[in-house]
Formats: sequence, structure tokens, C-alpha cells
Amino acid sequence: MFTDIYSPIHQLKHSARNHVLVKRDDLIDPYISGNKWRKLKYILNDVQKKQKNHIITFGGAFSNHLVATASACARAGLKSTAFVRGEVVSNEMLLLCKLFGMNLIFTDRDSYRNKKLLFNTHFGTASDAYFVDEGGASAEAVRGCTEIIAELPHDIDHLFCAAGTGTTAAGLLKGIHQRKLKTQLHVVPVLKGGDFIADEIYKHTGNIEQLIIHTDYHFGGYAKTPPTLIEYIKKFIADEGMLIDPVYTSKMFFALDDLISNNSFKKEDKIVALHTGGLLGIWGMKDKFIY
Ligand SMILES: *Cc1c(COP(=O)(O)O)cnc(C)c1O
Repeated sequence: MFTDIYSPIHQLKHSARNHVLVKRDDLIDPYISGNKWRKLKYILNDVQKKQKNHIITFGGAFSNHLVATASACARAGLKSTAFVRGEVVSNEMLLLCKLFGMNLIFTDRDSYRNKKLLFNTHFGTASDAYFVDEGGASAEAVRGCTEIIAELPHDIDHLFCAAGTGTTAAGLLKGIHQRKLKTQLHVVPVLKGGDFIADEIYKHTGNIEQLIIHTDYHFGGYAKTPPTLIEYIKKFIADEGMLIDPVYTSKMFFALDDLISNNSFKKEDKIVALHTGGLLGIWGMKDKFIY
């Protein structure tokens, strides 16, 4: 399952950005999407090594990580349970989780904060249970994401990625340092107050040279999608023939386009954007796309 992957590199088409390349991790798998595939790879290895057979994890009701975990567990023959933040709801993402056999436990926001306590209360005595943090955040996840660098050209000047927790960005930066590349990593946090991402990355890499964080492209905060962003998404998809998601990759591409239009790069600079997937997120926001 985590061996042969399809993640080609495509050139964008629109004249304003036709020198930009995109690493298509969105094409790896429709359900174990993009960076979630990268993050789960060594987590599932560890589960097998420790001879566990039940993954317990955490996420919001529209979490790409939950769908990815449910799908990966079903394929690997593992059980999966998720603590879902908030009141009982049903939506497209949770339907997929259930189809893949995931057991959902809706959890009020206060209890949800203490994930270790939830795990210990419900599964503390279950010897087959394995804890996976929200979003898959872990050293294993960072390790999986470093491998992206090995699949890219080594002479990239600017590499872009979107960030939630910063785990993916940490893996990329680690890969850049390990290979002693000149690449600058441009991280676009999708949450308000994204400066904390630098500390998160530092925890994993111990070095934040070559890291640039663009904190002004959150559009009001996590999963906020004002009309300018929705219009941007519609135009981008029609121009490029490539889907982008409303929560992560659209904010990254918007930032990249904005920096290009402000002449932040030299003409000959080699720019790559990492498409981290998450395309199912469109269905959670389908009412926003009015034509
Ligand atoms: C989860 C997710 C991210 C955020 O990854 P982090 O490692 O938490 O920063 C980025 N893009 C997409 C599409 C995602 O689903």
C-alpha cells in the first residue's frame, strides 16, 4: 500500500504562473490524500512492528486525516476508532469514515482537548490499541514527509507548502537540510496567528534556516473561505484543469500568485508548489460555490 506511488510533477498553464511546477501528491490516492499518505506511512509501519491492530485517533468533523486513517486502516486490515470533536453530526467526510469501517466517538470540545486522557479512559487497558495524534502529528509523520524532497529536482530555489500543524513543513525542511540543498521553504499557515508554526517546525528540525513563513494568507482563519477565495478557487481550477481544496492548497496558491505579482522572485528562479491533496474538502463547502 505504501510502496509504489503516483505523484508526478506538472507545470502550471496560466501565463502568470507557467514557470511554476506542482508536485502532485493529490494524485497519490483519493482517500489517503497527499500529505496524509506521507504521514501515515511510517505510523502504519510502527503499528505493525509493535503488533497492534487498532488505531485510535482524533479530528474535527471535516478532517482529511480521519478519512485517510479510516481508508488506510481498512486496507491494512486494522481496526480504527476516531474521537470526533463536537456534537453528533453527519456529513460527506464522516460517511466515508463509516464506509471504511471506522468507529466514531463524538466528544464535547472540553473533553476533546485532553487526547491522552481520552485514550487512557477508553483504551488504556486495550493492548491492541495505538495512539495517533490529531492530523497524524508525530516523528513518523515528519519522516514520511522528508521523502518528498528526494522525489523533487535538487536545484529548486523556492518550495511552497500549506501548513496546519506544520508537521509536513518540518519534514520538507528536514529533507532540505539533510541534502544540503539551497531551496528556501515557503510555508503558508492556514490558521490565524501562524507564527507558532516556526516553533512547531523547530521542535522537529532543531534548525529553521531557509524557512520563510507567510502569515497573511489565512483569509480570516482556519476553514474560513470569504468570496475572494471562492472566486480564486473557481478561476484557478478552470484555468489549470487541476482541483485545489478550499482549506489548504487554495490559500497556498493564492499566496504564491500574490508573491509572483509583487515580483518577489527572479524570472529564472525555479519554483515548486506541493499539492498536499485534501480535495474531499470541496464537498464540505459545496454550498459556498454558487454559479
Ligand atoms: C492536513 C493538511 C495539511 C496540513 O498539514 P500539516 O502537516 O498539519 O501542516 C495541508 N494540506 C492538506 C490538503 C491537508 O489535508
